[in-house]
Amino acid sequence: MLIRNASLLDGAAIDVRLSGSRISELGRLQALAREPVIDASGSCLLPGLHDHHIHLRATSAALDSIRCGPPEVHSAEELQELLATAATRNATGWIRGMGYHPSVAGEINRDWLDRVVPTTPVRIQHRSGRLWILNSAAIDLLKQRARSLVPNSLSTIDSAEDGRFLDTDTLFADVLGHRALPIAAISRQLASYGVTGITDMNPGNGPDDLSAMFGWQRSGDLLQRVSLAGKASLSGLASKSMISISSLKVHLHDHDLPELDALSQAIREAHKLDRPVAVHCVTDLALIFTVAAFESAGTIPGDRIEHASVTPDEMFEPLRRLGLIVVTQPHFIHERGRTYLQDIPVAEHHLLYRCRSFLNAGVALAGGSDAPFGAPDPWAAMRAAVNRATSDGTIIGPDECLTPEEALALFTGRAERPDLPRNITVGELADLCLLDQPWSVVRKDLDARHVRMTIIDGKPINGFHQ
Ligand SMILES: [Zn+2]
Repeated sequence: MLIRNASLLDGAAIDVRLSGSRISELGRLQALAREPVIDASGSCLLPGLHDHHIHLRATSAALDSIRCGPPEVHSAEELQELLATAATRNATGWIRGMGYHPSVAGEINRDWLDRVVPTTPVRIQHRSGRLWILNSAAIDLLKQRARSLVPNSLSTIDSAEDGRFLDTDTLFADVLGHRALPIAAISRQLASYGVTGITDMNPGNGPDDLSAMFGWQRSGDLLQRVSLAGKASLSGLASKSMISISSLKVHLHDHDLPELDALSQAIREAHKLDRPVAVHCVTDLALIFTVAAFESAGTIPGDRIEHASVTPDEMFEPLRRLGLIVVTQPHFIHERGRTYLQDIPVAEHHLLYRCRSFLNAGVALAGGSDAPFGAPDPWAAMRAAVNRATSDGTIIGPDECLTPEEALALFTGRAERPDLPRNITVGELADLCLLDQPWSVVRKDLDARHVRMTIIDGKPINGFHQ
């Protein structure tokens, strides 16, 4: 396939030939006999975007879930109305909510939900992803099924009297089963943003998830290339054509940190198997702890810090020295900024989801949506990285703004080495994103509607914005 009259970021005109899954030739090229030709009409051709941190299953599950927190929902009244409406529309099935934050209606429980939705089973996930809140109808249903399927889980269910279930995803999966997920819909949505690859960062990913992803790719539901992070049990499993095994994911919780030695040991063991480690750090405490563990265990290329939501200045030097890559979510400034401004002391606002300071300090920076906890659109993240504005226009950390090119680069690093850029060069994978304008136009209007065509593994996917 030949892409003619494309332009690069710097405006240079170029024709690009794709052969199979690679870029095979660049320059001023003539079409071969029967070669399909795409005329780019001077528009910009980018390396396909890679979302360096997403939870694919949960993102597709979220497609038919109600958003229960900021930026969509801000008050108890708004949430009550949403849930009541959902209950009248959906009298028999489950109502599934997600993204709940206590700024909406406090620490809600079973009784609160019962008052709003008395008969339809409801389960709402807290924004952290770890906590579910169920109403009585949902708990009754859960117990009914548990009694026949997993009787030993009944005591756990009974102990959550207030309807608040912490870290019970496995129990829910065992009792309720995996529902059929609209993977094709979310994958096509990602393609419409120009996303050609994802890193699935679910800490629970194991061999079953590798098979599931492979199955979805084989059936054509999942279009993107996948880099699968997750449990230690993935170590040593063979990569499949469009799936590679990536880092060991470690999820730290401030109130329940492991022994420092235990974390260092886990890092050492992963490294022995050539597996980088990715540690979830949303507080300064978790970040300091994690950096100490890496100091002791040593680092290998590809080791990463997920989120680095709060980064004090003194952390830049060790992060740079250790070669740790920070995978950030600048769009949280837009999506959650209003709650940050209320909940977080003013003196710490400039420490939130920093961008420019990492680059200035020589720390490699990449971007991930963290969908479904953040919106899956990387262009929204790029906009937020450039303007740092909350949903009501307040700027958080004005010194942390990136240029449009730096924001784009958050999503064009290599899957396994987000610190290394991919470029339009011969031999690179034919994973590309064709825009509808030159970069000089799009850089002032970072928006997914400029994505005209996405090419994954040499195959064009288009027709997004008709
Ligand atoms: Zn995540």
